[in-house]
Amino acid sequence: MESVLVANRGEIAVRITRTAKEMGLRTIAVYSEIDRDALHVAVADEAWNIGAAPAAESYLNADRIIGVALETGAEAIHPGYGFLAENSEFAARVIDAGLIWIGPPPEAIDMMGDKIASRRTATAVGVVGVPGTVEPVLDPDQVTDFADEYGYPIALKAAHGGGGKGMRIVRRASEIADALEAAAREADAYFGRPDVYLEKYLERPRHIEAQIIFDSAGSGFFLGERDCTSQRRHQKLLEEAPAASLTDEVRDAIGEAALAVGHACGYQNAGTVEFLLEGEESFYFLEMNTRLQVEHPVTELVTGLDLVRLQFEVAMGVELDLWDVPVRGHAIQLRINAEDPARDFQPAPGRITKYREPGGFGVRVDSGVEAGAVVSPYYDNLAAKLIVWAPTRELAIAKAKRAAADFQIGGIPTTLAAHLRILDNELFRAGRHYTTFVEQELDLTGLDQEEGPALPEEESTTERQATVEVGGRRFDVRMWFPEGQLGGGAPTRRPPRLQSSGAGGDDGGIVTAPMQGAIVKVAVKAGETVHEGDMICILEAMKMENEVKAPVGGELVDLRIQPGDTVSAGAVLAIIR
Ligand code: ADP
Repeated sequence: MESVLVANRGEIAVRITRTAKEMGLRTIAVYSEIDRDALHVAVADEAWNIGAAPAAESYLNADRIIGVALETGAEAIHPGYGFLAENSEFAARVIDAGLIWIGPPPEAIDMMGDKIASRRTATAVGVVGVPGTVEPVLDPDQVTDFADEYGYPIALKAAHGGGGKGMRIVRRASEIADALEAAAREADAYFGRPDVYLEKYLERPRHIEAQIIFDSAGSGFFLGERDCTSQRRHQKLLEEAPAASLTDEVRDAIGEAALAVGHACGYQNAGTVEFLLEGEESFYFLEMNTRLQVEHPVTELVTGLDLVRLQFEVAMGVELDLWDVPVRGHAIQLRINAEDPARDFQPAPGRITKYREPGGFGVRVDSGVEAGAVVSPYYDNLAAKLIVWAPTRELAIAKAKRAAADFQIGGIPTTLAAHLRILDNELFRAGRHYTTFVEQELDLTGLDQEEGPALPEEESTTERQATVEVGGRRFDVRMWFPEGQLGGGAPTRRPPRLQSSGAGGDDGGIVTAPMQGAIVKVAVKAGETVHEGDMICILEAMKMENEVKAPVGGELVDLRIQPGDTVSAGAVLAIIR
């Protein structure tokens, strides 16, 4: 294998690209229109625009992604997590197109694809699920019967749910009818499928999951467990490996159960089997995730294995030899989301104005952002992950606290402040926390979302970088402006001198803003043919309207502005070819 297209964005696309480069692969990024300047684009060898901001038009646009893979001669596709990662139809199409799919066989994705099907598969090989049904529930009487047998509370769960969504808790008989209707409606709205099933709702469980990996020869390996008990809204917030105070017996039993589930669905590649642990030793199958997990780095730090590299190796048919992988020390991952913990973790997308990562021995940051980046409401608000390693859990907690305090993120509230409280919490420190402890036990008022010491101002320079797209492929372009013309408002009378890093050809078709200002009107549409001198847009600056005209005639291959945008001097407004 010599090249790979990473069909994702954000921190996971960056993380996969890094390993792919270390393996000597040519890396191809894809991006939506609002991700042109995203970090995952910057770190890849080349990058292609796959559509508009809404995921349905870009990161879920299977046709376009496979099209780019074929056009660029990519040999493989790595889906990351989310988006198309657990879409068996996409996996099958990738394989049918003659590309290598860095993930499990489509049939395994299907068998584990919904919670009911996966519960059946697990039950068939003797792995016990949370007490519940393995059929969709339609009638309130079925819920009543279940309550008579197992008692309250009961969880009504969307069979196709995910991301902590689609679960309703019923605590008494009078709630059943309404809850069932609402759960089905919600399941339909979020996941396009109304199927709901029942589980006993465990009040104070821990979430323990097993990392497994199977090679193409069918050998399966258990790479230790992760504890993902610290959650908000039933979504993971902080993860660690190994799980605190888990006996070797329970650990081994969890590993065996996970491998049995993997074998049962003919698994290949890296996957995760999730369990809920009740008390010290009763564990129940919850679901299987047929992909790389957000929290995979904690396993990497305690095993010394690069899971993404292993994923590539499995896809290439390499037989793995991971029979005796020792787990060393302790790792903790803090998810850094653009959310305000003081307001019930309300999502708070926005521009990051200041950004400085922590460092030091045992500190790893997997980030998808930099200063100036925007955490967009279009996508998951996970901005970065801080992962630490230390010889013991206690030392890892101390290191996590230090590194979290050193992490400077300005402009948006983040979950970092909540992490400091979790790391100080007594239940957490004793390893006696449970899945809702953040919401039930933690005082998250008066959080310090204050900004840290200011970063040094960026030095002013007369060099400007811009990105252009030619036929959908992204290129970085450096431009130099005559002294004194930047930010000051003096109009640039002719197009700036351009040095293209690969686009080649004539540069006369790049339309730039002559001065800083606001776009009040756009006179053209992308794809249109324009003539030299045609008006492209009206730019208002210093209360004056300036017409920006086409410097050459040709096809408008890229239009980067819309009314209301503010642009700086030299910004690329459009490209004509
Ligand atoms: P998702 O696919 O949305 O992540 P999961 O079924 O994996 O949903 O569950 C996510 C979290 O929801 C669990 O870690 C746990 O906190 C909670 N949860 C799910 N099922 C139950 C249950 N039966 N009892 C108690 N908590 C549950």
